[in-house]
Amino acid sequence: MAEREELTWELFGSASRELAGQIAESGYEPDLILSIARGGLFVAGALGYALDVKNLHVMNVEFYTGVDERLDLPVMLPPVPNAVDLTGAKVLVADDVADTGATLKLVRDFCADHVSEVRCAVVYEKPHSEVKCEYVWRRTDRWINFAWSKLPPVVRHEGQVLDA
Ligand code: 5GP
Repeated sequence: MAEREELTWELFGSASRELAGQIAESGYEPDLILSIARGGLFVAGALGYALDVKNLHVMNVEFYTGVDERLDLPVMLPPVPNAVDLTGAKVLVADDVADTGATLKLVRDFCADHVSEVRCAVVYEKPHSEVKCEYVWRRTDRWINFAWSKLPPVVRHEGQVLDA
């Protein structure tokens, strides 16, 4: 068995479409999609098109510092979404993976005070996640290589552009 789960761009295309199919079939019609940056941005964008939802919001949460290395707790980074934008809405929270589930729990609890309903959609869910998402494309207990974060950043380093 491969050590890592690989989500290529091509596979993400069908994964996000299938995830959207689950949501549509369930009859849930979110007023807005709240993505968890950065990985959740890709998922939210794809779901936004597939479900015809144009109202997309972002929350920045920092937790992981490397492969299976994390801070003690996930932290929300500013800007935090305006509660007024969320009030009374049916919200779909979108992220790439629920691993420990701590990130999704933080965001879901943040929403719970304001919104009329909140559900979570992820591409992957790991078995130990403390949040059980309503919509999951695939389950795994392996580390996942996502197409958007697998390669090192293309940044200027001592005057050179790396790995363009
Ligand atoms: P959690 O709070 O559920 O432990 O982790 C949520 C975030 O951690 C994800 O949105 C993702 O950014 C990062 N993360 C957790 N597990 C993995 C993984 O298997 N692969 C990658 N690339 N990132 C992960």
